[in-house]
Amino acid sequence: MNLILLGPPGAGKGTQAARLKERHGLAHLSTGDMLRAAVAAGTEVGKKAKAIMEAGGLVSDDIMIAMIAERIDQPDCREGFILDGFPRTTAQAEALDKLLAEKGTPIGKVIEFGVDDDMMVERISGRFTCASCGAGYNDVTKPTRKPGVCDECGGTEFTRRKDDNPETVRARLVAYHEQTAPLLPYYQAQGKLVRVDGMADIDLVTKEIEEALAAGTGR
Ligand code: ADP
Ligand code: ADP
Ligand code: ZN
Repeated sequence: MNLILLGPPGAGKGTQAARLKERHGLAHLSTGDMLRAAVAAGTEVGKKAKAIMEAGGLVSDDIMIAMIAERIDQPDCREGFILDGFPRTTAQAEALDKLLAEKGTPIGKVIEFGVDDDMMVERISGRFTCASCGAGYNDVTKPTRKPGVCDECGGTEFTRRKDDNPETVRARLVAYHEQTAPLLPYYQAQGKLVRVDGMADIDLVTKEIEEALAAGTGR
């Protein structure tokens, strides 16, 4: 089963992808995480991407398509994968369809997270991540059970993304509506689009996604 999670920054894609990975043994492919790793490692791609990411723009289709083409060939993707943050443009979606057609492993379902944009700035401003295990939290909506201690691993170091500031989030929302939202009719036309209420509680969103996967013929 190959899935795409589609929604603006802060919609909950990463949160739900981590759960889907656990439950269904799928690889979690976050292009944002891959790019941040490339920036941290100082690779050629990282050098090209850094300023664009800090401004909230989109990295070029060529770079992104090459990155995902290489990633989906890895052994951990054989049983299926969850795309989180890719595709973000029509060119990326078309290239992905072509790659998957060649492999004979098409996208099963595309989960759209319906959210209220105005709340996304707030959500993202509260986002933080465990530096040891990568578990995601939120100051307001998903704090750690014990202050300053990761629920999952007991770690006490946390990170916040440089681009998770109100100004950059607004630019990212504009990029989403201009360049990524056209993918909704694209996947609707393929009969793959399922919409969930991304404003509901995290557990409820998980439940809605599970129901959508159980209901359909997704592979
Ligand atoms: P995305 O990957 O779509 O950018 P995240 O999964 O990182 O979004 O979620 C953004 C922030 O909102 C995180 O701090 C996360 O803990 C929180 N969050 C995720 N889903 C929900 C939800 N359904 N309700 C409230 N907060 C949420
Ligand atoms: P979000 O929380 O906004 O969903 P991501 O972690 O998915 O953020 O992406 C962070 C940044 O990385 C984006 O603002 C963009 O600059 C870049 N990026 C990630 N995926 C892509 C992609 N598929 N195409 C172009 N740029 C991307
Ligand atoms: Zn942790």
